[in-house]
Amino acid sequence: MKIGVPKEVKQDENRVAMTPSGVMSLKNSGHQVFIETNAGVGSGISDRDYQGAGAVIVPTAEEAWAHELIVKVKEPQKEEFAYFKEGQLLFTYLHLAAETEVADALISNKVTGIAYETIQKNTGELPLLTPMSEIAGRMSVQVGVHFLEKIQGGKGVLVGGVPGVEPANIVIIGGGFVGTNAAKVAVGLGANVTMLDININRLRELEDTFPGKITTLASNEYNIQTQVMKADLLVGAVLVPGARAPKLVTEEMIQSMEDGSVVVDVAVDQGGSIESIDHVTTHENPVYKKHGVTHYAVANIPGAVPKTATYALTNVTTPYVLKLANLGIDEFIRKDSAFAKGLNTYKGKIVHEAVAQGLDRRY
Ligand code: NAD
Repeated sequence: MKIGVPKEVKQDENRVAMTPSGVMSLKNSGHQVFIETNAGVGSGISDRDYQGAGAVIVPTAEEAWAHELIVKVKEPQKEEFAYFKEGQLLFTYLHLAAETEVADALISNKVTGIAYETIQKNTGELPLLTPMSEIAGRMSVQVGVHFLEKIQGGKGVLVGGVPGVEPANIVIIGGGFVGTNAAKVAVGLGANVTMLDININRLRELEDTFPGKITTLASNEYNIQTQVMKADLLVGAVLVPGARAPKLVTEEMIQSMEDGSVVVDVAVDQGGSIESIDHVTTHENPVYKKHGVTHYAVANIPGAVPKTATYALTNVTTPYVLKLANLGIDEFIRKDSAFAKGLNTYKGKIVHEAVAQGLDRRY
């Protein structure tokens, strides 16, 4: 199969959908990979690196798009719709429920859209979203700690303390992928870590993962209120699948925090779990102060570390690309139920029930 990898054109997107190792695996299976020039620059991968692995570098987006299978990171932007061809396979994050124009363009051009974010295992796991949660979780504490420094507007505490001085309190609400990865960094830095979740079995697993290193608490209004008051850094990491994040931390609770404390709401991409977060922030301007507390509400946290994010993403996408190229779409869908759930548009129709509902279209 001939596979095209365009350079991402969405603003501030520095990831690329394939690394040289992916090119090599595809080449060794008899496929050809065409990469748009400079597609990997934002992630530290040069044209020469790709050529060394066996890719053909093409000078324009049009030439990268002129193939049977297109592998990308983000949903196509308006200027890319012109490259769509009937029967073409597009494998990328699509988020069609929120991207009506992209959905319409895929349908009218009869492009087969397979969305990373709807590939789902029988266990419910979303394997192509997990690495981004791992990155966002680790980053949440990394950035939070930075904004605790006095010069950054924080209260000026060293997270791990020093002998004779107590460490900072880091409170994490939600103990899933984001929360667990936040805890790894927080524990590593020597913070006093408390994790809250409504799922008690999850808290049992967390106790086993971090024996003696964290305190776990059932997530309820009382426990949240008492913990938020004591937190130097509060991380919001909840998810109710398919729903907006529940508002668990009220404005009043935030007012009870000491001046210079920091709140990082990772769940802001699902509407946020903290009442005082009233807008999404960006990497250029990531924080604002409210009630004396620094609020960080960036919706695409992995965007700050494109090199890591590219490798984390392609580690999980490349095996699917390889199988798709080897088997073709019809056989791969028949053989792999997780991959089949990724199918969003096919032969001019929306074929994913939840996506159709989100778009208010017929399924
Ligand atoms: P996950 O499903 O692995 O974990 C969510 C956890 O929240 C679960 O353990 C669940 O039991 C818990 N939870 C649900 N309701 C709760 C409540 N009332 N109190 C306490 N805990 C509760 O999800 P995840 O992968 O960790 O993702 C968490 C959030 O982070 C999601 O909203 C996701 O979209 C978001 N996210 C944001 C970014 C970003 O860049 N901002 C990046 C990745 C993920």
